[in-house]
Amino acid sequence: MKGPPMTSTHEVFNQPPTLAGYDVAADPAMLDALRREGGGWAEDGVRELGRLAGSAQAQEWGRQANEHPPVLRTHDRFGNRIDEVEFHPAWHSLMTVAIRHGLHAAPWRDPRPGAHVARAAGFYVWGATDAGHGCPISMTYAIVPALRHAPELAGRFEPLLAAEEYDFGLRPPSTKRGLLAGMSMTEKQGGSDVRANTTRAVPAGDGTFSLTGHKWFTSAPMGDLFMVLAQAPGGLSCFLLPRVLPDGSRNAMRLQRLKDKLGNRSNASAEVEYEQAAAWLVGEEGRGVRTIIEMVNMTRLDCVLGTATGMRTGVTLAAHHAAHRTAFGRRLADQPLMANVLADLALESEATTMAAFRLAGATDRAAGGDEQEAAFRRLALAVTKYWVCKRAPAHAAEALECLGGNGYVEESGMPRLYREAPLASIWEGSGNVAALDALRALTRQPGTAEAFFAELDQAAGADHRLDQAIARLRKEVSDPSEGRARYLAEAMALALQGALLVRNGYPAVADAFVASRLDSASSFGSGGAYGTLPSGADTAAIVSRVTPQILW
Ligand SMILES: Cc1cc2nc3c(=O)[nH]c(=O)nc-3n(C[C@H](O)[C@H](O)[C@H](O)COP(=O)(O)OP(=O)(O)OC[C@H]3O[C@@H](n4cnc5c(N)ncnc54)[C@H](O)[C@@H]3O)c2cc1C
Repeated sequence: MKGPPMTSTHEVFNQPPTLAGYDVAADPAMLDALRREGGGWAEDGVRELGRLAGSAQAQEWGRQANEHPPVLRTHDRFGNRIDEVEFHPAWHSLMTVAIRHGLHAAPWRDPRPGAHVARAAGFYVWGATDAGHGCPISMTYAIVPALRHAPELAGRFEPLLAAEEYDFGLRPPSTKRGLLAGMSMTEKQGGSDVRANTTRAVPAGDGTFSLTGHKWFTSAPMGDLFMVLAQAPGGLSCFLLPRVLPDGSRNAMRLQRLKDKLGNRSNASAEVEYEQAAAWLVGEEGRGVRTIIEMVNMTRLDCVLGTATGMRTGVTLAAHHAAHRTAFGRRLADQPLMANVLADLALESEATTMAAFRLAGATDRAAGGDEQEAAFRRLALAVTKYWVCKRAPAHAAEALECLGGNGYVEESGMPRLYREAPLASIWEGSGNVAALDALRALTRQPGTAEAFFAELDQAAGADHRLDQAIARLRKEVSDPSEGRARYLAEAMALALQGALLVRNGYPAVADAFVASRLDSASSFGSGGAYGTLPSGADTAAIVSRVTPQILW
Protein backbone atom coordinates (compact mmCIF):
# COMPACT_ATOMS: atom_id res chain seq x y z
CA MET A 1 0.00 0.00 0.00
CA LYS A 2 1.37 3.38 -0.93
CA GLY A 3 1.37 6.13 1.75
CA PRO A 4 1.37 9.85 1.23
CA PRO A 5 4.60 11.18 -0.38
CA MET A 6 7.35 12.24 2.08
CA THR A 7 7.87 15.99 2.17
CA SER A 8 11.51 16.91 2.47
CA THR A 9 12.23 19.90 4.71
CA HIS A 10 15.96 19.46 4.60
CA GLU A 11 16.83 21.99 1.99
CA VAL A 12 20.08 23.77 2.95
CA PHE A 13 20.18 27.39 1.97
CA ASN A 14 21.56 30.67 3.31
CA GLN A 15 24.51 28.83 4.87
CA PRO A 16 28.06 29.82 3.80
CA PRO A 17 30.33 27.42 1.94
CA THR A 18 32.96 25.65 4.03
CA LEU A 19 36.00 27.87 4.33
CA ALA A 20 38.70 25.60 2.88
CA GLY A 21 40.79 25.94 -0.22
CA TYR A 22 41.88 29.46 0.58
CA ASP A 23 45.24 31.14 0.98
CA VAL A 24 45.82 32.00 4.63
CA ALA A 25 48.79 34.15 3.56
CA ALA A 26 46.59 36.36 1.35
CA ASP A 27 46.81 38.82 4.20
CA PRO A 28 47.87 42.29 3.05
CA ALA A 29 48.87 43.56 6.51
CA MET A 30 51.10 40.53 7.08
CA LEU A 31 52.66 40.56 3.61
CA ASP A 32 53.48 44.28 3.80
CA ALA A 33 54.99 43.79 7.25
CA LEU A 34 57.01 40.78 6.07
CA ARG A 35 58.59 42.89 3.32
CA ARG A 36 59.03 46.01 5.43
CA GLU A 37 60.78 44.13 8.25
CA GLY A 38 63.27 42.48 5.93
CA GLY A 39 61.76 39.06 5.23
CA GLY A 40 60.49 39.73 1.69
CA TRP A 41 62.84 37.10 0.29
CA ALA A 42 60.72 34.45 2.05
CA GLU A 43 57.42 35.49 0.48
CA ASP A 44 57.10 32.56 -1.92
CA GLY A 45 57.62 30.04 0.87
CA VAL A 46 55.15 31.85 3.13
CA ARG A 47 52.54 31.87 0.36
CA GLU A 48 53.05 28.15 -0.20
CA LEU A 49 52.61 27.48 3.51
CA GLY A 50 49.55 29.76 3.53
CA ARG A 51 47.88 27.71 0.79
CA LEU A 52 48.69 24.53 2.66
CA ALA A 53 47.28 25.97 5.91
CA GLY A 54 44.05 26.89 4.10
CA SER A 55 43.65 23.45 2.52
CA ALA A 56 40.87 21.12 3.61
CA GLN A 57 43.51 18.55 4.60
CA ALA A 58 45.41 20.82 6.99
CA GLN A 59 42.21 22.20 8.51
CA GLU A 60 41.13 18.62 9.10
CA TRP A 61 44.42 17.82 10.84
CA GLY A 62 43.75 20.72 13.17
CA ARG A 63 40.29 19.45 14.00
CA GLN A 64 41.40 15.86 14.53
CA ALA A 65 44.38 16.79 16.68
CA ASN A 66 42.05 18.67 19.02
CA GLU A 67 39.23 16.14 19.04
CA HIS A 68 41.68 13.31 19.81
CA PRO A 69 43.87 14.88 22.48
CA PRO A 70 47.09 13.28 23.68
CA VAL A 71 46.98 10.38 26.12
CA LEU A 72 49.55 9.72 28.84
CA ARG A 73 50.93 6.20 29.06
CA THR A 74 52.69 6.03 32.42
CA HIS A 75 53.35 2.26 32.35
CA ASP A 76 53.51 -0.56 29.86
CA ARG A 77 51.31 -3.62 30.28
CA PHE A 78 53.93 -5.32 32.43
CA GLY A 79 54.09 -2.46 34.91
CA ASN A 80 57.29 -0.84 33.72
CA ARG A 81 57.26 2.94 33.68
CA ILE A 82 57.32 4.34 30.17
CA ASP A 83 56.23 7.97 30.71
CA GLU A 84 55.25 8.49 27.09
CA VAL A 85 52.53 10.57 25.48
CA GLU A 86 50.54 9.17 22.60
CA PHE A 87 49.26 11.50 19.86
CA HIS A 88 46.79 11.23 17.01
CA PRO A 89 48.47 10.95 13.58
CA ALA A 90 47.07 14.41 12.71
CA TRP A 91 49.31 15.94 15.39
CA HIS A 92 52.35 14.32 13.82
CA SER A 93 51.32 15.67 10.40
CA LEU A 94 51.05 19.21 11.79
CA MET A 95 54.43 18.89 13.50
CA THR A 96 56.06 17.47 10.38
CA VAL A 97 54.97 20.43 8.22
CA ALA A 98 55.98 22.98 10.86
CA ILE A 99 59.44 21.47 11.23
CA ARG A 100 60.00 20.96 7.49
CA HIS A 101 59.34 24.68 7.10
CA GLY A 102 61.80 25.57 9.84
CA LEU A 103 59.24 27.23 12.11
CA HIS A 104 61.08 25.75 15.11
CA ALA A 105 64.58 26.99 14.22
CA ALA A 106 65.30 28.26 10.70
CA PRO A 107 66.91 31.54 11.92
CA TRP A 108 69.46 29.61 13.97
CA ARG A 109 70.46 27.48 11.01
CA ASP A 110 70.53 30.32 8.49
CA PRO A 111 70.81 33.65 10.31
CA ARG A 112 70.56 35.86 7.23
CA PRO A 113 68.92 39.30 7.69
CA GLY A 114 65.17 38.93 8.01
CA ALA A 115 65.36 35.28 9.12
CA HIS A 116 63.34 35.85 12.32
CA VAL A 117 60.75 37.81 10.35
CA ALA A 118 60.42 35.08 7.74
CA ARG A 119 60.05 32.50 10.47
CA ALA A 120 57.45 34.71 12.20
CA ALA A 121 55.41 34.83 8.99
CA GLY A 122 55.50 31.05 8.69
CA PHE A 123 54.51 30.61 12.34
CA TYR A 124 51.68 33.11 11.85
CA VAL A 125 50.12 31.49 8.79
CA TRP A 126 50.61 27.87 9.81
CA GLY A 127 49.10 28.59 13.24
CA ALA A 128 45.73 28.93 11.50
CA THR A 129 45.58 25.11 11.45
CA ASP A 130 45.99 24.54 15.19
CA ALA A 131 47.48 26.55 18.03
CA GLY A 132 48.49 23.63 20.26
CA HIS A 133 51.41 22.29 18.26
CA GLY A 134 52.81 25.82 18.17
CA CYS A 135 53.88 25.21 21.78
CA PRO A 136 56.71 22.69 21.18
CA ILE A 137 57.61 24.52 17.96
CA SER A 138 57.92 27.76 19.86
CA MET A 139 59.90 26.31 22.77
CA THR A 140 62.35 24.65 20.40
CA TYR A 141 62.85 28.00 18.65
CA ALA A 142 63.22 29.74 21.99
CA ILE A 143 65.69 27.44 23.73
CA VAL A 144 68.67 28.28 21.53
CA PRO A 145 69.65 31.72 22.94
CA ALA A 146 69.53 30.31 26.49
CA LEU A 147 71.41 27.15 25.51
CA ARG A 148 74.24 29.22 24.08
CA HIS A 149 75.14 30.10 27.66
CA ALA A 150 76.61 26.58 27.71
CA PRO A 151 78.70 26.56 24.50
CA GLU A 152 79.65 22.89 24.74
CA LEU A 153 76.00 21.79 25.05
CA ALA A 154 74.97 24.21 22.31
CA GLY A 155 77.66 22.77 20.04
CA ARG A 156 76.31 19.29 20.69
CA PHE A 157 72.57 19.93 20.48
CA GLU A 158 71.93 23.07 18.47
CA PRO A 159 72.40 21.40 15.06
CA LEU A 160 69.83 18.75 16.04
CA LEU A 161 67.40 21.30 17.46
CA ALA A 162 67.69 23.23 14.20
CA ALA A 163 67.43 20.18 11.91
CA GLU A 164 64.34 20.12 9.71
CA GLU A 165 63.46 16.57 10.72
CA TYR A 166 60.58 15.58 12.96
CA ASP A 167 61.82 12.50 14.81
CA PHE A 168 59.31 11.57 17.52
CA GLY A 169 60.14 9.06 20.23
CA LEU A 170 62.23 8.13 23.23
CA ARG A 171 65.85 7.76 22.14
CA PRO A 172 69.13 9.36 23.23
CA PRO A 173 69.18 12.90 21.80
CA SER A 174 72.47 12.50 19.95
CA THR A 175 71.09 9.51 18.03
CA LYS A 176 68.01 11.34 16.72
CA ARG A 177 67.62 13.22 13.43
CA GLY A 178 65.90 16.17 15.10
CA LEU A 179 65.11 17.30 18.64
CA LEU A 180 62.29 19.13 20.44
CA ALA A 181 62.67 21.26 23.56
CA GLY A 182 60.50 22.21 26.54
CA MET A 183 60.64 24.43 29.59
CA SER A 184 60.05 23.33 33.18
CA MET A 185 59.84 26.20 35.66
CA THR A 186 56.41 26.41 37.28
CA GLU A 187 55.85 24.69 40.63
CA LYS A 188 52.67 24.28 42.68
CA GLN A 189 53.51 27.06 45.10
CA GLY A 190 54.28 29.63 42.43
CA GLY A 191 54.81 30.14 38.73
CA SER A 192 55.36 33.88 38.41
CA ASP A 193 57.66 33.97 41.42
CA VAL A 194 60.11 31.32 40.25
CA ARG A 195 62.53 32.28 43.01
CA ALA A 196 60.23 30.27 45.29
CA ASN A 197 61.14 27.06 43.37
CA THR A 198 61.96 24.15 45.67
CA THR A 199 63.35 21.65 43.15
CA ARG A 200 66.90 20.90 44.29
CA ALA A 201 70.01 20.39 42.18
CA VAL A 202 72.93 18.55 43.79
CA PRO A 203 76.32 18.20 42.08
CA ALA A 204 76.71 14.53 41.11
CA GLY A 205 80.50 14.66 41.06
CA ASP A 206 80.81 13.88 37.35
CA GLY A 207 80.07 17.36 36.07
CA THR A 208 76.29 16.78 36.03
CA PHE A 209 73.70 17.70 38.65
CA SER A 210 71.05 15.50 40.17
CA LEU A 211 67.60 17.17 40.19
CA THR A 212 64.81 16.26 42.61
CA GLY A 213 61.47 18.04 42.75
CA HIS A 214 58.02 18.48 41.26
CA LYS A 215 56.96 20.77 38.41
CA TRP A 216 53.28 21.70 38.22
CA PHE A 217 53.30 22.62 34.52
CA THR A 218 55.62 21.30 31.84
CA SER A 219 54.15 21.46 28.38
CA ALA A 220 55.18 19.24 25.49
CA PRO A 221 56.61 16.62 27.88
CA MET A 222 57.30 14.32 24.90
CA GLY A 223 60.22 16.58 24.00
CA ASP A 224 63.85 15.55 24.12
CA LEU A 225 65.48 18.34 26.14
CA PHE A 226 64.10 20.58 28.88
CA MET A 227 65.29 23.81 30.42
CA VAL A 228 64.63 23.30 34.14
CA LEU A 229 65.01 25.75 37.02
CA ALA A 230 66.28 24.31 40.28
CA GLN A 231 68.00 25.43 43.48
CA ALA A 232 71.70 24.57 43.31
CA PRO A 233 74.17 25.21 46.15
CA GLY A 234 74.96 28.56 44.48
CA GLY A 235 71.28 29.57 44.12
CA LEU A 236 68.53 29.23 41.54
CA SER A 237 70.09 27.89 38.36
CA CYS A 238 69.15 26.74 34.88
CA PHE A 239 69.72 23.16 33.72
CA LEU A 240 69.39 21.22 30.51
CA LEU A 241 67.70 17.91 31.22
CA PRO A 242 67.47 15.15 28.59
CA ARG A 243 64.50 12.76 28.73
CA VAL A 244 66.77 9.90 27.64
CA LEU A 245 70.36 9.76 28.88
CA PRO A 246 73.30 9.40 26.49
CA ASP A 247 73.62 5.67 27.41
CA GLY A 248 70.04 5.05 26.28
CA SER A 249 68.52 4.69 29.77
CA ARG A 250 65.53 6.80 30.81
CA ASN A 251 66.26 9.85 32.85
CA ALA A 252 64.24 10.01 36.08
CA MET A 253 61.56 12.32 34.68
CA ARG A 254 58.18 10.91 35.66
CA LEU A 255 55.06 12.24 33.99
CA GLN A 256 52.42 12.19 36.75
CA ARG A 257 49.38 13.27 34.77
CA LEU A 258 48.32 15.53 31.92
CA LYS A 259 46.33 18.68 32.64
CA ASP A 260 42.67 18.69 31.62
CA LYS A 261 42.82 22.13 29.99
CA LEU A 262 40.23 24.67 28.90
CA GLY A 263 41.74 24.83 25.42
CA ASN A 264 45.07 24.06 23.74
CA ARG A 265 43.79 20.51 23.80
CA SER A 266 45.89 19.09 21.00
CA ASN A 267 49.00 19.82 23.07
CA ALA A 268 50.06 17.91 26.20
CA SER A 269 50.88 19.77 29.42
CA ALA A 270 52.14 17.58 32.25
CA GLU A 271 52.88 17.49 35.95
CA VAL A 272 56.37 16.11 36.30
CA GLU A 273 58.33 14.53 39.12
CA TYR A 274 62.13 14.58 38.89
CA GLU A 275 63.73 11.90 41.06
CA GLN A 276 67.47 12.48 40.98
CA ALA A 277 67.27 13.22 37.28
CA ALA A 278 70.57 14.01 35.59
CA ALA A 279 71.01 17.47 34.09
CA TRP A 280 73.73 19.82 32.86
CA LEU A 281 74.19 23.33 34.21
CA VAL A 282 73.46 26.09 31.67
CA GLY A 283 74.93 29.52 32.37
CA GLU A 284 76.30 30.58 35.72
CA GLU A 285 75.20 28.82 38.88
CA GLY A 286 72.86 31.13 40.78
CA ARG A 287 71.93 33.11 37.62
CA GLY A 288 69.15 30.80 36.48
CA VAL A 289 66.53 33.49 35.98
CA ARG A 290 68.87 35.58 33.87
CA THR A 291 69.61 32.55 31.68
CA ILE A 292 66.08 31.23 31.23
CA ILE A 293 64.68 34.70 30.60
CA GLU A 294 66.39 34.52 27.22
CA MET A 295 64.12 31.62 26.37
CA VAL A 296 61.06 33.32 27.86
CA ASN A 297 61.74 36.42 25.78
CA MET A 298 61.56 34.41 22.58
CA THR A 299 58.39 32.59 23.56
CA ARG A 300 56.80 35.94 24.43
CA LEU A 301 57.24 36.97 20.82
CA ASP A 302 55.33 33.83 19.84
CA CYS A 303 52.56 34.71 22.32
CA VAL A 304 52.09 37.92 20.33
CA LEU A 305 52.34 36.15 16.96
CA GLY A 306 49.99 33.37 18.05
CA THR A 307 47.48 35.94 19.27
CA ALA A 308 47.72 37.75 15.93
CA THR A 309 46.98 34.44 14.20
CA GLY A 310 43.98 33.76 16.44
CA MET A 311 42.54 37.20 15.75
CA ARG A 312 43.12 36.93 12.02
CA THR A 313 41.50 33.47 11.92
CA GLY A 314 38.51 34.66 13.94
CA VAL A 315 37.82 37.72 11.83
CA THR A 316 38.39 35.75 8.62
CA LEU A 317 35.77 33.18 9.64
CA ALA A 318 33.40 35.96 10.70
CA ALA A 319 33.84 37.95 7.48
CA HIS A 320 33.39 34.78 5.41
CA HIS A 321 30.14 34.00 7.17
CA ALA A 322 28.84 37.55 6.84
CA ALA A 323 29.72 37.64 3.15
CA HIS A 324 27.47 34.64 2.46
CA ARG A 325 24.65 34.92 4.98
CA THR A 326 21.54 37.03 4.49
CA ALA A 327 19.30 38.41 7.23
CA PHE A 328 16.47 40.92 6.94
CA GLY A 329 16.90 41.07 3.18
CA ARG A 330 20.59 41.95 3.01
CA ARG A 331 23.92 40.20 3.29
CA LEU A 332 25.10 40.44 6.88
CA ALA A 333 28.28 42.10 5.67
CA ASP A 334 26.17 44.90 4.18
CA GLN A 335 24.19 45.56 7.33
CA PRO A 336 25.77 48.76 8.66
CA LEU A 337 26.07 47.56 12.24
CA MET A 338 27.59 44.20 11.27
CA ALA A 339 29.99 46.07 8.98
CA ASN A 340 31.05 48.14 11.99
CA VAL A 341 31.62 45.02 14.11
CA LEU A 342 33.64 43.29 11.39
CA ALA A 343 35.70 46.38 10.64
CA ASP A 344 36.47 46.88 14.33
CA LEU A 345 37.59 43.24 14.62
CA ALA A 346 39.62 43.61 11.42
CA LEU A 347 41.52 46.66 12.55
CA GLU A 348 42.29 45.10 15.93
CA SER A 349 43.68 42.13 14.02
CA GLU A 350 45.78 44.30 11.66
CA ALA A 351 47.13 46.40 14.53
CA THR A 352 48.18 43.22 16.34
CA THR A 353 49.79 41.78 13.21
CA MET A 354 51.74 44.98 12.59
CA ALA A 355 53.02 45.12 16.16
CA ALA A 356 53.95 41.42 16.06
CA PHE A 357 55.99 41.86 12.88
CA ARG A 358 57.64 45.04 14.12
CA LEU A 359 58.76 42.99 17.14
CA ALA A 360 59.94 40.13 14.93
CA GLY A 361 61.98 42.70 12.97
CA ALA A 362 63.43 44.06 16.20
CA THR A 363 64.30 40.49 17.24
CA ASP A 364 66.11 40.03 13.97
CA ARG A 365 68.08 43.24 14.19
CA ALA A 366 68.82 42.77 17.90
CA ALA A 367 70.18 39.28 17.10
CA GLY A 368 72.45 41.01 14.57
CA GLY A 369 73.83 43.30 17.29
CA ASP A 370 71.60 46.40 16.94
CA GLU A 371 71.42 47.75 20.50
CA GLN A 372 68.77 50.37 19.80
CA GLU A 373 66.47 47.67 18.47
CA ALA A 374 67.25 45.46 21.46
CA ALA A 375 66.27 48.32 23.80
CA PHE A 376 63.08 48.98 21.84
CA ARG A 377 62.19 45.30 21.88
CA ARG A 378 62.71 45.02 25.63
CA LEU A 379 59.89 47.45 26.44
CA ALA A 380 57.73 47.11 23.33
CA LEU A 381 57.47 43.32 23.67
CA ALA A 382 56.33 43.52 27.30
CA VAL A 383 53.59 46.09 26.64
CA THR A 384 52.45 44.40 23.43
CA LYS A 385 52.36 40.94 25.01
CA TYR A 386 50.29 42.37 27.84
CA TRP A 387 47.83 44.27 25.66
CA VAL A 388 47.16 42.11 22.62
CA CYS A 389 46.73 39.00 24.78
CA LYS A 390 44.21 40.91 26.90
CA ARG A 391 42.26 41.83 23.76
CA ALA A 392 42.15 38.27 22.44
CA PRO A 393 39.28 36.68 24.43
CA ALA A 394 36.86 39.52 23.69
CA HIS A 395 37.92 39.46 20.05
CA ALA A 396 37.29 35.72 19.79
CA ALA A 397 33.91 36.06 21.53
CA GLU A 398 32.79 38.79 19.15
CA ALA A 399 34.02 36.96 16.05
CA LEU A 400 32.13 33.89 17.27
CA GLU A 401 28.94 35.89 17.68
CA CYS A 402 29.11 37.06 14.07
CA LEU A 403 28.15 33.48 13.17
CA GLY A 404 25.16 33.56 15.51
CA GLY A 405 24.31 30.14 16.92
CA ASN A 406 26.57 28.45 14.38
CA GLY A 407 29.54 30.11 16.07
CA TYR A 408 28.72 28.44 19.37
CA VAL A 409 28.86 25.02 17.75
CA GLU A 410 32.13 23.11 17.75
CA GLU A 411 32.13 22.37 14.00
CA SER A 412 32.47 26.06 13.19
CA GLY A 413 35.99 26.11 14.69
CA MET A 414 35.04 29.16 16.76
CA PRO A 415 34.79 27.42 20.17
CA ARG A 416 38.36 26.18 19.71
CA LEU A 417 39.58 29.73 19.03
CA TYR A 418 37.62 31.04 21.99
CA ARG A 419 39.03 28.47 24.43
CA GLU A 420 42.55 29.14 23.21
CA ALA A 421 42.26 32.90 23.50
CA PRO A 422 43.05 33.44 27.22
CA LEU A 423 46.13 31.23 27.25
CA ALA A 424 48.77 33.50 25.75
CA SER A 425 48.05 36.01 28.47
CA ILE A 426 48.64 33.44 31.23
CA TRP A 427 51.87 31.74 30.23
CA GLU A 428 55.26 33.39 29.79
CA GLY A 429 54.27 36.11 32.25
CA SER A 430 50.59 36.48 33.18
CA GLY A 431 48.91 39.86 32.56
CA ASN A 432 50.01 41.62 35.73
CA VAL A 433 53.48 40.15 35.54
CA ALA A 434 53.91 41.34 31.94
CA ALA A 435 52.67 44.83 32.84
CA LEU A 436 54.99 44.98 35.87
CA ASP A 437 57.86 43.78 33.68
CA ALA A 438 57.19 46.69 31.33
CA LEU A 439 57.25 49.04 34.30
CA ARG A 440 60.55 47.57 35.44
CA ALA A 441 62.09 48.25 32.02
CA LEU A 442 60.64 51.76 31.98
CA THR A 443 62.03 52.70 35.38
CA ARG A 444 65.30 50.74 35.56
CA GLN A 445 66.43 50.75 31.94
CA PRO A 446 65.82 54.31 30.72
CA GLY A 447 67.34 53.42 27.33
CA THR A 448 64.30 51.25 26.63
CA ALA A 449 61.93 54.19 27.08
CA GLU A 450 64.13 56.37 24.86
CA ALA A 451 64.10 53.74 22.11
CA PHE A 452 60.34 53.28 22.51
CA PHE A 453 59.54 56.98 22.22
CA ALA A 454 62.02 57.35 19.34
CA GLU A 455 59.90 54.79 17.51
CA LEU A 456 56.70 56.71 18.24
CA ASP A 457 58.34 59.98 17.17
CA GLN A 458 58.85 58.60 13.70
CA ALA A 459 55.11 59.02 13.20
CA ALA A 460 55.14 62.65 14.40
CA GLY A 461 53.14 65.09 12.32
CA ALA A 462 51.21 62.47 10.36
CA ASP A 463 48.03 62.57 12.47
CA HIS A 464 47.31 65.24 15.08
CA ARG A 465 45.21 62.84 17.18
CA LEU A 466 48.15 60.47 17.43
CA ASP A 467 50.52 63.36 18.20
CA GLN A 468 48.28 64.39 21.08
CA ALA A 469 48.01 60.83 22.37
CA ILE A 470 51.80 60.47 22.39
CA ALA A 471 52.14 63.80 24.22
CA ARG A 472 49.65 62.53 26.84
CA LEU A 473 51.57 59.28 27.13
CA ARG A 474 54.82 61.14 27.86
CA LYS A 475 53.10 62.75 30.86
CA GLU A 476 51.51 59.51 32.00
CA VAL A 477 54.79 57.58 32.19
CA SER A 478 56.15 60.12 34.65
CA ASP A 479 54.06 58.31 37.31
CA PRO A 480 55.16 54.69 37.02
CA SER A 481 53.58 53.43 40.25
CA GLU A 482 52.83 49.69 40.42
CA GLY A 483 49.08 50.05 40.60
CA ARG A 484 49.13 51.84 37.24
CA ALA A 485 51.16 49.20 35.41
CA ARG A 486 48.25 47.87 33.34
CA TYR A 487 47.05 51.34 32.47
CA LEU A 488 50.49 52.38 31.27
CA ALA A 489 51.13 49.15 29.36
CA GLU A 490 47.81 49.53 27.57
CA ALA A 491 48.49 53.16 26.72
CA MET A 492 51.98 52.39 25.41
CA ALA A 493 50.78 49.44 23.33
CA LEU A 494 47.96 51.47 21.79
CA ALA A 495 50.32 54.32 20.96
CA LEU A 496 52.73 51.88 19.34
CA GLN A 497 50.00 50.23 17.28
CA GLY A 498 48.68 53.65 16.26
CA ALA A 499 52.13 54.88 15.23
CA LEU A 500 52.83 51.75 13.19
CA LEU A 501 49.48 52.00 11.43
CA VAL A 502 49.78 55.71 10.71
CA ARG A 503 53.23 55.25 9.21
CA ASN A 504 52.77 52.03 7.31
CA GLY A 505 49.20 50.79 7.52
CA TYR A 506 46.28 50.85 5.14
CA PRO A 507 44.89 54.40 5.44
CA ALA A 508 41.29 53.43 6.27
CA VAL A 509 42.51 51.05 8.99
CA ALA A 510 44.91 53.61 10.46
CA ASP A 511 42.27 56.33 10.51
CA ALA A 512 39.62 54.17 12.18
CA PHE A 513 42.14 52.83 14.70
CA VAL A 514 43.28 56.29 15.77
CA ALA A 515 39.70 57.60 15.83
CA SER A 516 38.43 54.75 18.01
CA ARG A 517 41.43 53.99 20.24
CA LEU A 518 43.47 57.17 20.60
CA ASP A 519 41.35 60.23 19.87
CA SER A 520 40.43 61.66 23.27
CA ALA A 521 37.86 63.95 21.59
CA SER A 522 35.66 61.28 20.05
CA SER A 523 36.12 58.14 22.09
CA PHE A 524 34.64 57.05 25.38
CA GLY A 525 37.89 55.25 26.11
CA SER A 526 38.78 51.59 26.05
CA GLY A 527 36.72 48.77 27.45
CA GLY A 528 33.83 49.20 25.05
CA ALA A 529 32.46 46.42 22.89
CA TYR A 530 33.68 45.88 19.36
CA GLY A 531 31.47 47.46 16.71
CA THR A 532 31.65 51.01 18.06
CA LEU A 533 33.76 52.69 15.37
CA PRO A 534 32.79 56.33 14.89
CA SER A 535 30.84 57.38 11.80
CA GLY A 536 33.02 57.98 8.82
CA ALA A 537 35.06 54.79 9.17
CA ASP A 538 35.42 53.14 5.77
CA THR A 539 34.11 49.82 7.00
CA ALA A 540 33.64 48.24 3.56
CA ALA A 541 37.28 48.85 2.60
CA ILE A 542 38.52 47.55 5.94
CA VAL A 543 36.36 44.41 5.86
CA SER A 544 37.37 43.58 2.29
CA ARG A 545 40.95 43.10 3.55
CA VAL A 546 39.93 40.23 5.81
CA THR A 547 37.28 38.57 3.63
CA PRO A 548 38.76 35.33 2.28
CA GLN A 549 38.45 34.10 -1.29
CA ILE A 550 37.90 30.39 -1.82
CA LEU A 551 40.36 29.56 -4.58
CA TRP A 552 40.05 25.86 -5.21
C1 LIG B 1 48.28 25.45 29.36
C2 LIG B 1 49.45 25.87 30.18
C3 LIG B 1 50.70 25.40 29.86
C4 LIG B 1 51.81 25.76 30.61
N1 LIG B 1 53.04 25.27 30.27
C5 LIG B 1 54.11 25.58 31.05
C6 LIG B 1 55.41 25.03 30.75
O1 LIG B 1 55.60 24.37 29.75
N2 LIG B 1 56.43 25.29 31.59
C7 LIG B 1 56.26 26.06 32.70
O2 LIG B 1 57.22 26.27 33.43
N3 LIG B 1 55.05 26.61 33.00
C8 LIG B 1 53.99 26.38 32.20
N4 LIG B 1 52.75 26.91 32.50
C9 LIG B 1 52.60 27.66 33.73
C10 LIG B 1 52.47 29.15 33.55
O3 LIG B 1 53.67 29.69 33.05
C11 LIG B 1 52.06 29.73 34.90
O4 LIG B 1 50.75 29.29 35.15
C12 LIG B 1 52.15 31.23 34.96
O5 LIG B 1 53.50 31.63 34.90
C13 LIG B 1 51.51 31.80 36.22
O6 LIG B 1 52.00 31.16 37.36
P1 LIG B 1 50.98 30.55 38.44
O7 LIG B 1 50.01 29.70 37.71
O8 LIG B 1 51.76 29.90 39.50
O9 LIG B 1 50.20 31.79 38.99
P2 LIG B 1 50.72 32.84 40.09
O10 LIG B 1 52.15 33.11 39.90
O11 LIG B 1 50.25 32.42 41.41
O12 LIG B 1 49.89 34.12 39.63
C14 LIG B 1 48.47 34.21 39.85
C15 LIG B 1 48.02 35.59 39.41
O13 LIG B 1 48.68 36.57 40.19
C16 LIG B 1 49.26 37.55 39.36
N5 LIG B 1 50.47 38.05 39.99
C17 LIG B 1 51.63 37.39 40.26
N6 LIG B 1 52.52 38.20 40.83
C18 LIG B 1 51.93 39.41 40.95
C19 LIG B 1 52.33 40.68 41.50
N7 LIG B 1 53.56 40.85 41.98
N8 LIG B 1 51.45 41.70 41.47
C20 LIG B 1 50.24 41.54 40.92
N9 LIG B 1 49.79 40.38 40.43
C21 LIG B 1 50.63 39.32 40.43
C22 LIG B 1 49.52 36.85 38.04
O14 LIG B 1 49.54 37.79 36.96
C23 LIG B 1 48.35 35.91 37.96
O15 LIG B 1 47.24 36.57 37.39
C24 LIG B 1 51.64 26.60 31.73
C25 LIG B 1 50.36 27.09 32.05
C26 LIG B 1 49.28 26.74 31.28
C27 LIG B 1 47.93 27.28 31.64
